Amino acid sequence: MRIKRWLWALAIIAVVLLSSKIYLLDSAASPGTAFVIDTDAWHRLATASGPLPDHIEVEKIGTFAFPKKLVVAGESFHLHPMVLLSHRIVWSDRSIIIDTGVSPAAGKKMPGAKLDESAYNRMQAAMRNADLILFTHEHSDHMGGLASSPDFASVAKHARVTREQLNGPKLERGDFAPGALEQLQPFDYQGMVAVAPGVVVQKAPGHTTGTQLIYVELKNGQRYLFVGDIAWTFENITRERGRPRLAELLMKEDRAQVAAQLQALHKLPKEIHIIVAHDPLALEHDVNEGLVKQGFAS
Ligand SMILES: [Zn+2]
Repeated sequence: MRIKRWLWALAIIAVVLLSSKIYLLDSAASPGTAFVIDTDAWHRLATASGPLPDHIEVEKIGTFAFPKKLVVAGESFHLHPMVLLSHRIVWSDRSIIIDTGVSPAAGKKMPGAKLDESAYNRMQAAMRNADLILFTHEHSDHMGGLASSPDFASVAKHARVTREQLNGPKLERGDFAPGALEQLQPFDYQGMVAVAPGVVVQKAPGHTTGTQLIYVELKNGQRYLFVGDIAWTFENITRERGRPRLAELLMKEDRAQVAAQLQALHKLPKEIHIIVAHDPLALEHDVNEGLVKQGFAS
């Protein structure tokens, strides 16, 4: 009799563990209301005034890894390599930075993260000379370089932080020096807007309340879309499969909105190159294909 009770208890524990695994780690979200992408509208706004940018550069600020299971629902526990990037849109006489990586101090708190101090310093120098600094969203691995800028007062004048990013619950206010956030002028817009010739931003809340898409069109006709962390790997888009519920609960993202965005990105015409913020294989591909140039030229 006693043995039978133990067997029942073990069976119940096994069922609970298996159900929790399926619920938290294996199930991807279903898309909510369709996310509308209008590529003609991006093109119209981007080309309404010139001149368009020449090229795009990238700095790899660091590397880290997450279990693949946290990156794509239902995958294995093996470690999935990831990168921390900053991009620069370059004209002959101006530049725009997209995302600023993580500060060295904050990077030390990321388990297994390795930061490239030279790349970080090049990014800091580029921020000082940039006309604008844009952010795909307000997480500290994208705003950390701004928060830790040694020239914050002058750099802050060029930072276009949206009101949603500035007021969002996911902004790590502790990364900023006391009084620094008050120096940032909130950037307000509705829907989508051109912020420079060839550069259009569009609101895309879900991963965070301040997430936005950044569309870029170069003078050679190449078209790009920076999607930040809507996807952590290109696979999220090709398979239309997002992060598991556990990752989404930890980050408090709206998984139905993110799933709808992944669905819309999956349907995007192939001539628009999607730039995912943390995907090392996509980065290697983009550099090898000449879509982005490795390193910020001085
Ligand atoms: Zn990120």
